[in-house]
Amino acid sequence: MHSLPDSAIRLINEFSKLPGIGRKTAQRLAFHLLSSKTENVYRLSQSLKEIKSKIKNCTICHGITENNPCKICLDSKREDDLLCVVESPYDVFVFEKINMFRGKYHVLGGSLSPLDGIGPDELNISTLIDRVNEGTEILIATNPSVEGETTALYISKILQKKNISVSKLARGVPVGSNLEYIDEATLIRAIEGRISV
Ligand code: ZN
Repeated sequence: MHSLPDSAIRLINEFSKLPGIGRKTAQRLAFHLLSSKTENVYRLSQSLKEIKSKIKNCTICHGITENNPCKICLDSKREDDLLCVVESPYDVFVFEKINMFRGKYHVLGGSLSPLDGIGPDELNISTLIDRVNEGTEILIATNPSVEGETTALYISKILQKKNISVSKLARGVPVGSNLEYIDEATLIRAIEGRISV
């Protein structure tokens, strides 16, 4: 490593921080970019900048968008009174890929995890409460982890007190896994078989 220029080492270090990228892959990526055309590397660097400078969170659903409110919140063909509650913007993407959910979303921005200092105030729960009324149906689709289940229970208790109908995804997946790793067929079954709570 010592024979490498400092800027190449810095790039390898940055790649290594990404999920699923080990040291060797990071080195391969860095050498690939070194031998790529300058304009391609600049385009990549521009895309990296833009995901931070252009993308923001929708103030209604907290999903990611370039224009606020986001396209999904503005879509009049979608049901306003069916809300799918998920942990992350990535989960919205997972649901949209299967193209069968016709409601709107609410992104919590994580899950309750007292040991990490994440309580209800750190999540987008108060804005969820503000969005619902007695006609709203809520589908809770937090991850099937301990934190996700705790979050689902916490939210459903609050909503039930307000007489709002709450259902949860049927679980076709092992506990502890992440929604993003569920295959599409399993997710469709989990939505169709949703359980009232
Ligand atoms: Zn939105």
